[in-house]
Amino acid sequence: ISKANGRNRYHFFTEQMQLNAERIASLHNQLKQALDQQTFELYYQPIVNATTGLIVRAEVLLRWQHDGQFIPPDEFIPIAENSGLIVDIGRDVRLGAMQTILEMQAHNWPINLSVNVSTFEFWSHELQDAFVDSFAAITEQLEVTDFPYDRLTLEITESLLMKQHTHLIDVLNGLRIKGIKISLDDFGTGYSSLSYLANFPIDQIKIDKSFIDRLDEGKRHEALVEAIVRLSHALDLTVTAEGVETESQLKFVMSNHIQEIQGYLFYKPMPKAAFFALLAKQAELH
Ligand code: C2E
Ligand code: MG
Ligand code: MG
Ligand code: MG
Repeated sequence: ISKANGRNRYHFFTEQMQLNAERIASLHNQLKQALDQQTFELYYQPIVNATTGLIVRAEVLLRWQHDGQFIPPDEFIPIAENSGLIVDIGRDVRLGAMQTILEMQAHNWPINLSVNVSTFEFWSHELQDAFVDSFAAITEQLEVTDFPYDRLTLEITESLLMKQHTHLIDVLNGLRIKGIKISLDDFGTGYSSLSYLANFPIDQIKIDKSFIDRLDEGKRHEALVEAIVRLSHALDLTVTAEGVETESQLKFVMSNHIQEIQGYLFYKPMPKAAFFALLAKQAELH
């Protein structure tokens, strides 16, 4: 870039880039600190059964409050991924989620938890093996011998499946043998290949919010989601609709036999205490 041509633009871009780089570097250091000091918080977004409206699951969503304000995961997760911190953060999230599963079990609440897994946590064979091994260490830390793994679902994304390693299939199958369910998150947003649905050992798909949003835009969008749902059901996959916000979206979801609904129309993500209060109320009423 020539400084003589458009000096102002040049300055503008470099200043922006510098600001960005500084922000990323400082967030990275603060993330590291947050990890050491365990100042992350887990939020829970209740997910309901479409037929009964009852809470059957929650998605565990990481929250990071820094200098009095929440930094959105879409901003800090990529930084954690690029620096490798995501591996330790991910382990902490699984530890917290598994602890919560044990607490819900003690209350006799039959609720599942879904935890997001970053593709970076599966970056290499070594990381994949360490991921599987981490469950033994976590259950030891939680002082349990037989953990109810059937209550735990791991949400992976298509970017992981693009790598198509046979080792990955072994790893996913190994997790499923424990009882863990595998869910394909944000379905339709990546380099979606329908063959993923048949070729990978998965139990569920989550239709991305962007598809649910577009349902209100007309029949062609409805036809697309209908086809994804029908194919998924034919393959025995459970379907969750993500980001349901309106009554008309709900109507569509119900008439297409989508089994689980997640969205602001029902619940927003909330701290654990609020989530447990809801579950206690539900247990009292049903
Ligand atoms: P995701 O896994 O697709 O999670 C669903 C996101 O959609 C959440 O955003 C949730 O709050 C939001 N959402 C759900 N229903 C609605 C709705 O009706 N309307 C709107 N506007 N939004 C809705 P959130 O919590 O900001 O998380 C964003 C992303 O960050 C997640 O997308 C996930 O990819 C990532 N993430 C969050 N926690 C973790 C974590 O513990 N580990 C990893 N690796 N990624 C995480
Ligand atoms: Mg998710
Ligand atoms: Mg999602
Ligand atoms: Mg999403």
